Amino acid sequence: MMIIMKPGSTQVQVEHVIEHIRENGLTSHLSVGEDHTVIGAVGDTHAVPTAVFEVLDGVESVIRISQPYKLASRQFHPKNSVFPIDGFDVGGDEITIIAGPCSIESREQLLETAQAVRAAGAHALRGGAFKPRTSPYSFQGLGEEGLELMAEVRQATGLPVVVEITSITQLEIMIKYVDVIQIGARNMQNFALLSAIGKTQTPVLLKRGMSATIEELLMASEYILSGGNQRVILCERGIRTFETSTRNTTDINAIPVLKVLTHLPVILDPSHSTGQADYVTAIARAAIAAGADGLIVEVHPDPAHALSDGRQSLKPDVFAELVRQVGQIANVMGRKLSPIPGI
Ligand code: PEP
Ligand code: MN
Repeated sequence: MMIIMKPGSTQVQVEHVIEHIRENGLTSHLSVGEDHTVIGAVGDTHAVPTAVFEVLDGVESVIRISQPYKLASRQFHPKNSVFPIDGFDVGGDEITIIAGPCSIESREQLLETAQAVRAAGAHALRGGAFKPRTSPYSFQGLGEEGLELMAEVRQATGLPVVVEITSITQLEIMIKYVDVIQIGARNMQNFALLSAIGKTQTPVLLKRGMSATIEELLMASEYILSGGNQRVILCERGIRTFETSTRNTTDINAIPVLKVLTHLPVILDPSHSTGQADYVTAIARAAIAAGADGLIVEVHPDPAHALSDGRQSLKPDVFAELVRQVGQIANVMGRKLSPIPGI
């Protein structure tokens, strides 16, 4: 439930409410807004009558959040969540573009890609060091060496870096090297991993599972938020359907649906959602037109020789044109691309 404090309520009154929340076996989440302070009381609230809090000094009203995800819901936090990654804000009026190779393959490949995507207008660099591959015989990623290369290229280009985690055992080194931890489709419901990342303060890019409903995605985000990590970006990356002409089916509906249900930033991955370079730019445009806050796009200097996902990777010049077109769509939507730090 949500306990809305009266304007001008005191610190002592807020602490008193928090104490009552604890005494009722619930966890408190404080949100101090411009007009109101709101305290979320999360846990098994069924047996706790709202009157327990309504009678306390400084309390204006108590509302039960009807959705099963509480902290992720717009009921709890009506305004969009806007938060800084290194060098730009995500979730506000400005569009964020993350780009880079599916896998980190070598220093040369990573640096060349990073320089190209930066010049084209990307705000952050993606690259996988631990690859969740369908086959155990496919390239599995460079592991920690890949993270070291990411850190080196981050230093050389100034781009913050986004890397996927595939196991809880990688958490310590991830925090050391990366600006945003990606949780991939295959781990969206790895609840132990979600909870562990919730206890860190590293921003998270949470991808939708390939067979997950929007509600399941939001419940997954709730695991992270309820641990105390508020910086979660949701990512639609296509779902499995009966259609076989594309790798996945872009659920474009998910963007406006999520924007209604949650305050968290929502981005789209047109590379995995289509699986083919020819379709990526069109779906990137559609995402921004539908209200997405950003994109994550796979780019490779030589897609034909990429060690993973070459079919869906854009060449740098095609990516540059995507950014240009997406910028124009953003303008139509009354938004613009985030400025590029240092340019
Ligand atoms: C990726 O980003 O390379 C990836 C494996 O994505 P997903 O988890 O969406 O399949
Ligand atoms: Mn990939």
